[in-house]
Amino acid sequence: MKLDSKVPEGPIKDKWTNYKNKIELVNPANKRNIDIIVVGTGLAGGSAAATLAELGYNVKAFAYQDSPRRAHSIAAQGGINASKNYMGDGDSDYRLFYDTVKGGDYRSREANVYRLAEVSTNIIDQCVAQGVPFARDYGGLLDNRSFGGVLVSRTFYAKGQTGQQLLLGAYSAMNRQIARGKITMYNRHEMLDVVKIDGKASGIIARDLVTGELERHSAHAVVIATGGYGNVYFLSTNAMGSNVTASWKIHKKGAFFANPCFTQIHPTCIPRSGDYQSKLTLMSESLRNDGRIWVPKKLEDAKAIREGKLKPTQLSEEDRDYFLERRYPAFGNLVPRDVASRAAKERCDAGFGVNKPGEAVYLDFASAIERYGKTQAKIHGIDNASKEKVIELGEKIIEEKYGNLFQMYEKIVDENPYKTPMMIYPATHYTMGGVWVDYNLMTTVEGLYCIGEANFSDHGANRLGASALMQGLADGYFVLPYTIGDYLSKDIRTGAISTDGPEFEEAEKETRKQLEFFVNNKGTHSVDYYHKKSGKVMWDKVGMARTEKGLKEAIKEIQEIRADFWKNVKVPGGINELNPELEKAGRVADFLELGELFAKDALERNESCGGHFREEYQTPEGEALRDDKNFAYVAAWEYTGKPSEAILHKENLEFKDIELKTRSYK
Ligand SMILES: Cc1cc2nc3c(=O)[nH]c(=O)nc-3n(C[C@H](O)[C@H](O)[C@H](O)COP(=O)(O)OP(=O)(O)OC[C@H]3O[C@@H](n4cnc5c(N)ncnc54)[C@H](O)[C@@H]3O)c2cc1C
Repeated sequence: MKLDSKVPEGPIKDKWTNYKNKIELVNPANKRNIDIIVVGTGLAGGSAAATLAELGYNVKAFAYQDSPRRAHSIAAQGGINASKNYMGDGDSDYRLFYDTVKGGDYRSREANVYRLAEVSTNIIDQCVAQGVPFARDYGGLLDNRSFGGVLVSRTFYAKGQTGQQLLLGAYSAMNRQIARGKITMYNRHEMLDVVKIDGKASGIIARDLVTGELERHSAHAVVIATGGYGNVYFLSTNAMGSNVTASWKIHKKGAFFANPCFTQIHPTCIPRSGDYQSKLTLMSESLRNDGRIWVPKKLEDAKAIREGKLKPTQLSEEDRDYFLERRYPAFGNLVPRDVASRAAKERCDAGFGVNKPGEAVYLDFASAIERYGKTQAKIHGIDNASKEKVIELGEKIIEEKYGNLFQMYEKIVDENPYKTPMMIYPATHYTMGGVWVDYNLMTTVEGLYCIGEANFSDHGANRLGASALMQGLADGYFVLPYTIGDYLSKDIRTGAISTDGPEFEEAEKETRKQLEFFVNNKGTHSVDYYHKKSGKVMWDKVGMARTEKGLKEAIKEIQEIRADFWKNVKVPGGINELNPELEKAGRVADFLELGELFAKDALERNESCGGHFREEYQTPEGEALRDDKNFAYVAAWEYTGKPSEAILHKENLEFKDIELKTRSYK
């Protein structure tokens, strides 16, 4: 099969407009006869479901939580990008497009990224109209802040709760359609397979997680919006339930999986505290606007700090190494995440880490507190303000900006970050890889779409901060509602699709078989035992730094863990009841297959780019060394029975509007 990205012809800035002008439309009366299934109601799925229902389609929406409000999207803290140029600092659609392609280390599709930049401004208008309480400046205008990898301020935010507020907006829009009967919401339902009839996606098999019953649902198109697969590492900043199951099941039914090895390791997370931890917590990138990252300059100071004999506040300026400011003077603490994460790891590996296991660096707000305090003293007309007064005034500003994040840190670490620097370390956060989609967001299966973090997205090998929410909402509010119509226009006479056919029968049978296996296996180890074990292999050998040797070992070890899992996994409880262990078993089974493909993809990509760092391919300064001649492509994998036998298809990436060059943040 040949991959066709279906990118329209013409100049990049006109592609989307011309395309929209020419695609087929479905008349309002016909939309009433068309059903669409949307699996996942986070920001991507929620916005898509609301918009498709508003357009007149009959939408069936599915989520495994008890409400769309609990989707992982609610965790997003820092903000959402848009090229509004409200700050007058030189922003434009082109600059957002350029920053995103460069930030992704030139491994994304130009046309999609330009479209993303183009619709970004609409998202802000849409959300403001819904009542999303974005932060405003003194004059009442929407405020912006800066995120990594850019030199402008284009991030709209609602304190440290941007995802929550945006999700409440999308959820309100959904609720209106639920009340009108245009969306049927299936909470606590997990999609366990997709059903294809004559090669087209025509429905799903879902399990009611409360009763355990398997259900068949049909539709004229199926949209997967089920989020990312960062939990393949076991420990991540993702919600505990985030998983790959829907994406993996559709992969097994013909949807290619693209760039699985492109994963984001976020530099500012609360470090791991021990072996019995099940979750990691993010400290938003927005903190890098004001926080300065450092470690001690001298090894003996780092050792003394680790042993509790020295406090960071006792170390003078000359004894601190602000390593990002030193290495990347132009972007400083606001370099992109992959660069910041690697730099922190490099310092910790060299022995400068500051917590007990030596896996933490400082994020220090003392300079910002002093700077804000002095400005506030001036504003309030306080001459010769004392140091204490300056700190008091400065801390108030920091609290206004990041109060909830500071509170969260203090609750977890039991240290006051206003008084002593935060400790942070990189952790898995986001997956740029995912289901391959064309310009229409359709997968390699007809009628099967994928949006939000679940698709291989617009972020190439590294996502810039505040761009995931932008992409999810662009897909859901402004892209899919157009492109899906073009496909559905051929379906206006199809009528309701029966769920009695052999395709539904077979898919349900296979799903039931797996569930029955789990509860009947009566093995010896819990699901978490396997998840933790494979997660450790992934982190150690397919994490922030990868080598050919390590990747080959990882593939073998994951295969062994998987074989053991299918022999010895123990799942208590039954099928026809609420059974979270059974849910987890299915998800971990899929992680164990994805993990192998992930490592295979990383092994095949003999270059370093973005979040994919192969130690063999680096510059003398330790920066990622791309190989554009051989690897400027999207790796799209076709399932043929086993991850080890997956077939690689390449979508060559062409750069016509941005010069392909080495990324530099110096
Ligand atoms: C801590 C944290 C902070 C972040 N902060 C930011 C930020 O400030 N800015 C930014 O741009 N990005 C941020 N991100 C990234 C961003 O939050 C996510 O990429 C984005 O929210 C994903 O949205 P989504 O709609 O694609 O998926 P999700 O929000 O993950 O939603 C997935 C949906 O799919 C459903 N689902 C999953 N599997 C199934 C199944 N098999 N059957 C039925 N339903 C299923 C779930 O119930 C849920 O409704 C952050 C991420 C983390 C981890």
